[in-house]
Amino acid sequence: MKKIFTLAAVALLAVACLLCSSCSGEKSTGITSSHTSATQTSTHATTAESSKTVQSTAQASTAESTKAPQKDFSYINKFREDYNVGTCKDLSGKVAVVLFFMDDFESKWTNAEIESFTKKEIEPGLEFLEKEAAKYGVSLELSIEKTYKSVYYSGEVIESVRNTGLATIDVLVQAANAAGFSNTVSMLNRFRILYKTDEVVCLTIFNKDGTAYAINPKKDETMKIDEHCIIFARDLGSAETEHKGFQASVIAHEMLHLFGAEDFYAAAARKKLARAYYPNDIMLSTSFNIRGNNIGEATAFYIGWADNVPPPLLDPDWN
Ligand SMILES: [Zn+2]
Repeated sequence: MKKIFTLAAVALLAVACLLCSSCSGEKSTGITSSHTSATQTSTHATTAESSKTVQSTAQASTAESTKAPQKDFSYINKFREDYNVGTCKDLSGKVAVVLFFMDDFESKWTNAEIESFTKKEIEPGLEFLEKEAAKYGVSLELSIEKTYKSVYYSGEVIESVRNTGLATIDVLVQAANAAGFSNTVSMLNRFRILYKTDEVVCLTIFNKDGTAYAINPKKDETMKIDEHCIIFARDLGSAETEHKGFQASVIAHEMLHLFGAEDFYAAAARKKLARAYYPNDIMLSTSFNIRGNNIGEATAFYIGWADNVPPPLLDPDWN
């Protein structure tokens, strides 16, 4: 069918992608991570100068911390600037998950497909996060509170941030309108009241091939977009012979971005360190079998499950 982009929409998207998109990690086919090259430039990198400053402060603080047990969060949080930022702040306690199964000009969901995707992909992704949280002593209850079906998106969603450098930012806006809200802010506020939690994760899911991404504005960004994930039923470009629809690890990876997790695969130096320290971390590579992934101490730190700065983050190569 004919493409239905408008020039205005493309221009808007071009601004957004540079600021706030994070695409999913590369897929690995086995239990161990076999990672292929990624083209996404890390938006999390700090300058060499600032990492040096942070490192020397780190050494001083480590020495002090042996004497004083109090944690210096102004120091600690310098290493995780995306934590506690945006609409999704803290991945603990009760977290409501709202699903929007999106239809568009070329794809739609049947009830049976929605049921199957929820059971085989979303629920295992949520269970993975809960189990990993427990390993860090964090209580986490992710509950699917509401599923919207037949939500029509009138544009053409960008299926690969990597290929185009652009991200689609108005899917949740249209989803909110379809759900009867004038905007995403009022929708999220309503959900917070209804589901009795400040933390609401919105997943918009298209029944076609694509590379999932998270819309998660960073600290100091002027563009205000409520955080959410754009998920696809199948990986873009996956060969017919490969598994299709194994999205549980991708869903968990993208959700973690909303709460502050950073990619480990984008910058070569960080990737090398991550392979050594956190070979199965879900932010390094998303396994076709989510049981092959875990959440290592760096990702746990980025999302606030742990407060000790992991040693690799003090390495200039990490930043
Ligand atoms: Zn990512």
